[in-house]
Amino acid sequence: METQSKAPVAIVTGASRGIGAAIATELARQGFEVALLARDVAALGRLEEQLTRAGGRVWPLACDIADERAVGAAMERLEAKLGVPRVLVNNAGVGGPFHRVDEVSTAEWDQLFGVNVTGVRNLCHWALPRMKAQGYGRIVNIASIMGLFGGAQSSTYAATKHAVVGYSKSIAAEWGAYGITCNALCPGYIDTEMLAKADPAVRARLLERIPVKRFGTPEEVAGMVSFLVGPFSGYVNGSALVMDGGLSAHLASDLPAF
Ligand code: NAP
Repeated sequence: METQSKAPVAIVTGASRGIGAAIATELARQGFEVALLARDVAALGRLEEQLTRAGGRVWPLACDIADERAVGAAMERLEAKLGVPRVLVNNAGVGGPFHRVDEVSTAEWDQLFGVNVTGVRNLCHWALPRMKAQGYGRIVNIASIMGLFGGAQSSTYAATKHAVVGYSKSIAAEWGAYGITCNALCPGYIDTEMLAKADPAVRARLLERIPVKRFGTPEEVAGMVSFLVGPFSGYVNGSALVMDGGLSAHLASDLPAF
């Protein structure tokens, strides 16, 4: 039997790229032992190599979070190796489909709910009783500004992210008494690969609407996560924290004042 880890343990889902990789990088830099969950084994291996070279301690765990059995098997390995995590960051998620409500297929609907909602549920379901037993837990669920607002051609994504916000608030209400906090983070447009590939005209139109005139960075999201799992956030529980450069604070810059 391997010895249990003494450093605090964090799980980050969707760590193979984008925002999740930035969160894992920041938590590893802060001394967490970080379990990196995603399906892309090669990408996880590259991040492991990079973070290990920088002095971090990380553990790649290939796993489809929508599959409860796969999550159970991965968590069993994690628990044997590192013990119970203090931090769970449910970041993995899929975007799209950018269709009208009546054009969204059942398969698309099920796929998005499988990852964005059931995936979050699978990890929370496993972690909560264990965090309760140790009397401490910090859960951060990466929702989206679309978890608080709707949008044309975004119904399925918005529905999944509203579910994440509601689920997070309910966990906060139910498990706060056991030393566990759960918050949803609601980013606006973050400059990841997907946005970098967008048509320059689309990028420009988006930027027009964002008061700070830029996209957010994965590192800024990682900074917010770091606050939510850090020593000054114990009284922040059940929040849906918006970080969108002011996008949702106004109706539209092009509406006439009267
Ligand atoms: P991304 O670059 O597409 O990365 C998504 C991550 O989720 C990848 O690591 C992917 O890894 C993982 N993933 C997807 N399906 C999975 C599954 N079934 N099982 C395990 N892992 C899975 O996305 P991102 O832009 O970094 O977004 C991260 C989170 O932030 C998402 O929840 C997204 O909805 C949210 N968000 C993003 C933005 C934005 O502007 N980028 C804004 C608001 C909210 P594998 O492919 O290796 O499995």
